[in-house]
Amino acid sequence: MPEIYNTIIIGSGPAGLTAALYAARASLKPLVFAGLNPGGQLMQTTEVENYPGFPEGILGPELMFKMTKQSERFGAKILSEIVDDVDLGSRPFKVKTSKGEYFAKTLIVATGAEANWLNLPNEQRLRGHGVSACATCDGFFFKNKEVAVVGGGDSAMEEATFLTKFASKVTILHRSDQFRASKIMLARAQADLKVAFMPNVEVVDVLGADHVEALKLRGTADGKEIEFKVDGLFLAIGRTPASNVFKGKLDLDQRGYGLISHGHTGTNIEGVFWAGDVADPRYRQAVTAAGDGCRAALDVERFLAERGEISQESAAA
Ligand code: NDP
Repeated sequence: MPEIYNTIIIGSGPAGLTAALYAARASLKPLVFAGLNPGGQLMQTTEVENYPGFPEGILGPELMFKMTKQSERFGAKILSEIVDDVDLGSRPFKVKTSKGEYFAKTLIVATGAEANWLNLPNEQRLRGHGVSACATCDGFFFKNKEVAVVGGGDSAMEEATFLTKFASKVTILHRSDQFRASKIMLARAQADLKVAFMPNVEVVDVLGADHVEALKLRGTADGKEIEFKVDGLFLAIGRTPASNVFKGKLDLDQRGYGLISHGHTGTNIEGVFWAGDVADPRYRQAVTAAGDGCRAALDVERFLAERGEISQESAAA
């Protein structure tokens, strides 16, 4: 008989690892699949200054390393396998990875989301060195500098307005002159004296040896290319939740974000719970994801306890 885990957690960002910590401390001996990007989005950032408890800041990868160690200390088992498929038709649920099949009484889906990137030739090389997809995370590093924000939606307006707290000038670059942003957010950005608009341009590349120095822009109407001097480039062209594996199995909104169906973290299937950015288009912070992970693990514990299903042999850690 294969082992039936009390809970399997899919994802190893702040949501998955906090869920693992709480489940492990409740003696549920969780199994975590670390997935495609072990550690999640924080592995791509440099300094994290807004995670409570680190007054001097902490490097994103170091924070994730500490979270991993902390959950392992209480008995969480973490495998670097990628989940290809899930069978949620009946319990125990079946989770298929590249290496095998696993069974669990409950599941926590904490697969996260990824910012969309422009796929420019030098974009990833300069990521963390002036290229960012998170103004809340990195805006602070651009005090009195000039930055550009790409996009014409609410995120671009919000990021641009936020960045004016630090930057001396913020230019919104948009590929057309039609903005998807809501009227109120567009108006707020337009009224801000530090915000400039440059419509009808696309970014062709980001230039700089070890940090961003300029952008190469092309006019979408006339095809004319110019170099535009900035110290930072912020992308706000949408995000993609990592929910493909759950399409047709769990209720998602039209953008692919998980829908909470019951309680605080429950999906439409009893015993399956959401945690973190995969079900959160709104807050998208490491600390909110960690909070969700905690809530999902507490919901799992309650779900199993109510049914008298916490297995003793797997609680031996
Ligand atoms: P949106 O999908 O609304 O906007 C994405 C923007 O990026 C569009 O202007 C789009 O241009 C542009 N874009 C997409 N791909 C590219 C590309 N390859 N090159 C250049 N530009 C590109 O995403 P948002 O993240 O702005 O918003 C998502 C949702 O979240 C919305 O429903 C929004 O209302 C909501 N939101 C609400 C906030 C709030 O209320 N405080 C804050 C932030 C978001 P184009 O228009 O030409 O397609």
